[in-house]
Amino acid sequence: MTSMNKVFADLPVTIFEAMSQAARDNNAINLGQGFPDDPGPEDIRKAAADASLNGYNQYPSMMGIPELRQAIAAHYGRWHGLNLDPMTEVMVTSGGTEALTAAILAVVEPGDEVIVFQPVYDSYLPIIRQAGGIPRLLRLEPPDWRLNEEMLRSAFNHKTKAVLFNNPLNPAAVVYPREDLELLARFCQEFDSVAICDEVWEHVIFDGREHIPLITIPGMRDRTIKVGSAGKIFSLTGWKIGFVCAAPPLLRVAAKVHQFLTFTTAPNLQAAVAYGLNKPAEYFYDMRTELARSRDRLTKGLESLGFPVLKSQGTYFLTVDLSPLGLNETDQAFCWRIVSDYKVAAIPVSAFYEKDAVTSVVRFCFSKRDATLDTALERLSDAIHRR
Ligand code: PMP
Repeated sequence: MTSMNKVFADLPVTIFEAMSQAARDNNAINLGQGFPDDPGPEDIRKAAADASLNGYNQYPSMMGIPELRQAIAAHYGRWHGLNLDPMTEVMVTSGGTEALTAAILAVVEPGDEVIVFQPVYDSYLPIIRQAGGIPRLLRLEPPDWRLNEEMLRSAFNHKTKAVLFNNPLNPAAVVYPREDLELLARFCQEFDSVAICDEVWEHVIFDGREHIPLITIPGMRDRTIKVGSAGKIFSLTGWKIGFVCAAPPLLRVAAKVHQFLTFTTAPNLQAAVAYGLNKPAEYFYDMRTELARSRDRLTKGLESLGFPVLKSQGTYFLTVDLSPLGLNETDQAFCWRIVSDYKVAAIPVSAFYEKDAVTSVVRFCFSKRDATLDTALERLSDAIHRR
């Protein structure tokens, strides 16, 4: 048998896939994988339908259709005061995943060190390794999951080519404050490193919090590759429209990678996302309010069952820390038990660590209908009380 590329051949099936399969096998409510029950904004879906019927359906520009690139630049201008040139600093990709892959492959060469924070999103490490990069794993911890100087000092060095930073952070549901961003920015500048910033959750934030893009921190404009995803912004996760924003010397190389990953992305969906990004601010605030309502419903329900909930600041997720419950089982054991015995699927946060895992935290997705959340809560009541 031919030996296959070990970076990929030795990868396990992701926990999202494994848990979703277990949810199907057990006819369980799936609060594991992050996708909303809701079909998504109707006007944006209609805009996509209209663009399919009446618009252009051949290969669009490799960098993305001009109206979407302009809409992305204008959107970040309005929301964050960013001044992006839509023609040289914005690229459309097939999802945040492709954007991240293009960014990593554009920056990382064999032997380069790349700082990565755990819990880590599952696509980062294989792509860094495929590029020949050496991940330097740092460990974030509950309940705050914050960065600190000592941790960064232990990892940054003259070989640090890049740092991969996810904010808001999935699965921990943290929206990082300016203080942490400034700290990270200081290290990137001291060691001349590029920041690849995964901000796909940028609009899914609660309680009046502000998302601060790392690229807006002084000194970071020319060394940050900002990644976004319309899938998360509009709760249309299957559309896979992502964006890369970066200074021309960085974007130019990411574009060379993109041209051989996917080359281009469905033009009807791009047109609909352009329409969506131009919506007034109220649309985004309403979306946040509605999701925060679901978060609060699941939080209250879990708390009344006795689960210690680490309150979610953003994303579709909240986490619970099992350690005070005295269940005497790991997050993995708990998740496999509840999916088979109580028919609720959740994700063990230890799956987001490659080493030194935090093993007591479980992630639940709350972007679901009230009735779905309520039924899940009834079932979990049995899981915690009938042991
Ligand atoms: N990064 C993070 C942190 C995510 O949570 C996700 C989606 N789950 C992605 C990237 C991928 O985004 P997309 O679906 O647009 O590829």
